[in-house]
Amino acid sequence: SAEQRWELRINSLNDGLKLVQLSDQSSSYAAERMRTDFVANASHELRTPLAAIKGFIETLQNPAAGKDDDTRARFLKIMFDEADRMQRLVEDLMSLSRIEAEKFQLPNEPVDLSKLIAESKGFFLNSRGKKDRDYLVDLPTNMPFIVGDRSQLAQLIQNLVSNAFKYGRKGTPIKVHATINRSGAILKLSVSDQGDGIAPEHLTRLTERFYRVDKGRSKAIGGTGLGLAIVKHIAERHGGRLEISSVISQGTTVSVFLPIAKSAADNADVTNES
Ligand code: ADP
Repeated sequence: SAEQRWELRINSLNDGLKLVQLSDQSSSYAAERMRTDFVANASHELRTPLAAIKGFIETLQNPAAGKDDDTRARFLKIMFDEADRMQRLVEDLMSLSRIEAEKFQLPNEPVDLSKLIAESKGFFLNSRGKKDRDYLVDLPTNMPFIVGDRSQLAQLIQNLVSNAFKYGRKGTPIKVHATINRSGAILKLSVSDQGDGIAPEHLTRLTERFYRVDKGRSKAIGGTGLGLAIVKHIAERHGGRLEISSVISQGTTVSVFLPIAKSAADNADVTNES
């Protein structure tokens, strides 16, 4: 298949003997292939808005086409939106490469997720167009600290909550829910929405870079197709994993399982007592 690559090496040894080595290069080939696909996809995603912006500038520059103020304003709005989209893409690409670059450094701050969730709630409820939505939070009373990278964990929450707002139906609440497993070792953080849901055949592919169920819709609501890829990277960097469950026409829950370090639990206790 396209992903199978074998390397055959034949070495002549002294007395006419030949050493034949066959090695499986499939995984490094697949990794290289993924990298080149990614660069091609990213370039394509950036080129589309760039071409639109250039096109509108050229139209505005053409003195022959007498443009009224309304048309000019409309063109400028489109150009602004396209530039905005490019900016979001570049920011997401930079986040991804930063997380990858830091892959071998263990994040080590004790992070209070309940505070990050409260900040995210404040941010979303203050942003335009989100005022008709409830942001429900349900956390355990003994919410532990997570040893991690504060800004990355904030971004993880922000990406999940932003998807819940984007793909949840107008007027329905989004919910952030956390539970601790029985042994006290794992925190499960879930973000749920009441939206159209995702068909099962898409579920395993959602964390691929630039994979979208409905490209037009994702673009129209300001998606970059990188949000869940970033969430997956951040979860893995924290020794955690991601689980997505969805019921068509009911909604989606994305859960992140994060290890609770012993010292993190101690930190939380110290903070609670002081
Ligand atoms: P995007 O920027 O397009 O939202 P993501 O990586 O965050 O990119 O998500 C990838 C795709 O997964 C989205 O385009 C959308 O099709 C689907 N998706 C993500 N979250 C949800 C959700 N809560 N409900 C329905 N579909 C979702």
